[in-house]
Amino acid sequence: MPSPKPPIRWLNLAVLCFPVLVSITIVPWYGIRHGYDAWEWGWFAALMVFCEMSITAGYHRLWSHSTYKAHPLLRFIFALGGACALQNDCITWASDHRRHHLYADDNDKDPYSANRGFWYSHFEWMIRDYPSTREDLGNAKDLLKDPILVWQRKHYLVLLLLMNIGLPLWLGWINGDIWGSLLLAGFLRLTLSQHFTYLINSAAHMWGSRTYDTEQTARDNWIIALFTFGEGYHNYHHTFALDYRNGIKWYHYDPTKWLIKACSWAGLASDLRAISPYRIEMTRVAVEYKNALNRCDMVEQPAKWRSRLEGEYEQVMASLNAWAEARQAWYQAQSRAISDELQHDMELLNARYKELKGKARIQQQHWQALLNNLSRLPYHANTPA
Ligand SMILES: [Zn+2]
Ligand SMILES: [Zn+2]
Repeated sequence: MPSPKPPIRWLNLAVLCFPVLVSITIVPWYGIRHGYDAWEWGWFAALMVFCEMSITAGYHRLWSHSTYKAHPLLRFIFALGGACALQNDCITWASDHRRHHLYADDNDKDPYSANRGFWYSHFEWMIRDYPSTREDLGNAKDLLKDPILVWQRKHYLVLLLLMNIGLPLWLGWINGDIWGSLLLAGFLRLTLSQHFTYLINSAAHMWGSRTYDTEQTARDNWIIALFTFGEGYHNYHHTFALDYRNGIKWYHYDPTKWLIKACSWAGLASDLRAISPYRIEMTRVAVEYKNALNRCDMVEQPAKWRSRLEGEYEQVMASLNAWAEARQAWYQAQSRAISDELQHDMELLNARYKELKGKARIQQQHWQALLNNLSRLPYHANTPA
């Protein structure tokens, strides 16, 4: 017999469900009866961005993972946005999230383990008293020293009421229609911003590709990135959580990364941490190698393909290692290059680094061509369909 579910946290249930109920009933009814104007839609969009970015750039990448440092003004803005997003105070949120990374997919320790199912990781973990979701701030001692976060935690109730009720009412008062602003910039914005964030814990652990680590449930999914301001590249994030980026390619939709970069240009953020490209490539190629070896068992002449793969894998890894070492040598020389003689050495090292980077790129193309050939081979006759 399955064990009974823990008791419901009625306050959490009410706080989470009420905005949803209003959003699917009164919001459309009011729209049909009275309509919404550009002011209301504009503030709905502005507060959506404010809430989501405060969670992604603030709660998540700044405070949970320390991927960069932020000016107190930026931290204050994120603290207000976090109260507006109504996802608990930042210290509790980040503490839960650090446990989510440390014990990812462990049903007894990961507060929102995706192995418990979509609805559990999306929603249910907040509305029942599961032991893994109980507050334990032992892993957030650094955050307890941040005066802005301590202030936010102390006044969280007042702040969330001000941001979710007071601000929309004030915007509506300016516009001459308090209900229109309360419904759009208040309730609908709150509902959508919350559930878009929750998709990262549920959908981004279920649908998408596992490019960097096949052992975990986290996936890379560009569609989820569209709704979550770039957090959909979740397999990358779980593999390299110290990187301020989640979408690492220039064409990856990651507005949170762009915001952090823009803040660094404006002097509001510093010490942005990014994983080196060769380390990322080595991790990705190792996963491709593992998948390709499995594929070899399904095609004709598996021994021949396995041997070709092994040879090409060794070469591509050697080229990436050489690139990494050249980069390291260049960095070390840069810190010592004070005399003209060393400047000359540095130029040579830089040229060597660029040459090895080019070679690594060519080797990667060979590797990719081999993988493409392997993937086009038909399954051999004995492979079960
Ligand atoms: Zn994270
Ligand atoms: Zn996750």
